[in-house]
Amino acid sequence: MIRVENLAKSVGPDKLPVLREISFDMQQGEFIGIVGGSGSGKSTLLRCLALKEQWDKGKFTVHGTDIFGAGYAGKKQIKREWAYLEQNPELFTNKTVLKNVLIGRSGQTPWWRMVTGMVRSDDYMGAMDIIESVGLLDKAHMKAGQLSGGERQRVAIARALTHGAKVILADEPVIGLDPKSADSVLENFKKLCSEENVTVIAVLPIELAERHAARIWGLSEGRIAFDIRGRRLTMHEKNKI
Ligand code: ADP
Ligand code: MG
Repeated sequence: MIRVENLAKSVGPDKLPVLREISFDMQQGEFIGIVGGSGSGKSTLLRCLALKEQWDKGKFTVHGTDIFGAGYAGKKQIKREWAYLEQNPELFTNKTVLKNVLIGRSGQTPWWRMVTGMVRSDDYMGAMDIIESVGLLDKAHMKAGQLSGGERQRVAIARALTHGAKVILADEPVIGLDPKSADSVLENFKKLCSEENVTVIAVLPIELAERHAARIWGLSEGRIAFDIRGRRLTMHEKNKI
């Protein structure tokens, strides 16, 4: 179980509060959609969870480990197991899908293998399994530059998974995608949650969150204004965000 208690974050020289008293529990394998207006703190929340921003205060517990109390080891675990997916994932457009997925393991991949393109067979098999799980098996040897936006998102997801991600934090992963590609990315998230027990938190438009996410958080002025499961937003909830 993952628990956040009273996360607060302010930014800039004026210490503008962006997140206030954010608290929640979530289970491994959940798919949570975050909805909320521009400036409500959605990106800041994801970046705080990925430890890309320092928290002003708050307690962060992951499977019994107090992440800040555990010092370096706790933070290292998050950095290793939690993947933050940017809106426009940077891919090597002139390299294949497979290479892009494998190169994502920088740190684990020796430089000479990155340069020569030599791949160990167990790395190869593992990466191909993951590429299959995101529905790109038939495109594994295509150049990333030839892919659609939705396919590029799925390469980024595959890269995170190859890297060992157990939690995926995705900031507007389907913005700019056509409806079919958006659905395919979100179907993929759902499958990862139910079949691989991956946890996904994704910033989404309301309609897509309602259609795909089992749980929805509505953010407003840095607070979780509502936290609902298995249903659409009420008019009252829509007015809150
Ligand atoms: P959202 O993703 O919901 O649009 P953000 O988390 O990006 O919102 O930002 C929330 C608020 O915090 C916005 O008003 C934004 O301008 C402000 N903000 C975020 N980061 C910074 C920063 N580094 N410096 C100043 N203001 C920031
Ligand atoms: Mg944002």
